Amino acid sequence: MQSDIMTIHTQVTTASRLADLDMENIQFGKIFADHMVSIDYADGEWQTPQILPYGPIELSPATAALHYGQALFEGMKAYKTVDGQVVLFRPQANWARMNESAKRLCMPEIPEELFMESLKQLIALDADWVPSKVGHSLYIRPFMFASDALVGVRPSDTYKFMIFCSPASQYYAEPVRVKIEEKYTRSVEGGAGYAKAAGNYGASLYPTKLAQEKGFHQVIWTDGKEHNFIEESGTMNVMFVIDGKLITPALSSSILAGITRDSVLQLARDWGMPVEERRISVQEIVDAQAAGTLQDAFGTGTAATIAPIKSIMYKEHEMELPPVADRTFSNKVAAELDKIRHGQAEDVHGWMVPV
Ligand code: PMP
Repeated sequence: MQSDIMTIHTQVTTASRLADLDMENIQFGKIFADHMVSIDYADGEWQTPQILPYGPIELSPATAALHYGQALFEGMKAYKTVDGQVVLFRPQANWARMNESAKRLCMPEIPEELFMESLKQLIALDADWVPSKVGHSLYIRPFMFASDALVGVRPSDTYKFMIFCSPASQYYAEPVRVKIEEKYTRSVEGGAGYAKAAGNYGASLYPTKLAQEKGFHQVIWTDGKEHNFIEESGTMNVMFVIDGKLITPALSSSILAGITRDSVLQLARDWGMPVEERRISVQEIVDAQAAGTLQDAFGTGTAATIAPIKSIMYKEHEMELPPVADRTFSNKVAAELDKIRHGQAEDVHGWMVPV
């Protein structure tokens, strides 16, 4: 690693677009904050980090990532506390997961200090882009891709790591109708499902599109062998409350280790709720619903925090779940996470990191 690695070269924009942002009417994912991080990896080491005005980058048509899929990303958020401080939610967890993805894709790991310092300086520079309303946030997208311009399937020698941001309003998740997927598979044991590999998302679009054409919002992914065991819900982890117990699929090589998942499980344990991380068969959910013990079902993820599931379609039968207003646990945990992130509840686990 170069000795001047933590000298971040910063070029501040002379044309801020902040004044064009309507904080009352944020269109998520379409507007990008003024600056971005860009760090090249070459000659076996990370080069001097740069913070630049947000803008297009030039690529060779032979860029390896575009052909062979050596590309990964992360998703995280910065919040403004009620005191006006800008804080990141569990950024070290995103850094650690990114390096797990990097290992799986033969990409270079990024040192913690390089990730954290470039991230903090970027967010500090664009602090005015962090919305202050409770529930609003600045979505942060770190990503890395293979940048060799060379035809041939092999790990690239050069990479680009970048971070850009996009303001996000409160995500009022409409309760979703989901369908148990019995034909397609997001990921199999031994595959790359636990990595945030770009290719996982490309391959998930077609089965999701088919489900949406039938009126469902998303699919519940099942295991690739028998389609009998529940894995994830769309691009979220999935949890159920059955008879007062919080139950979620155990992590495996085919499930992404969600940071929201981990946070929800931690809060449930803090509150003394029984938590089970284990295999869940579709039949178990069908039986619980029939017995009236299925009290709650929801997805967990950075975008929505908690996305309530309204109904689950399985083999031509749509199972209706209890009204969202009656769901004690998911409502409570969503509210608590909001409070922690905005400095309105004690951060006992040290999740919030000031920039
Ligand atoms: N599973 C998948 C496949 C995802 O893309 C995401 C979103 N990153 C999650 C689960 C939830 O992860 P997190 O809580 O870290 O956002």
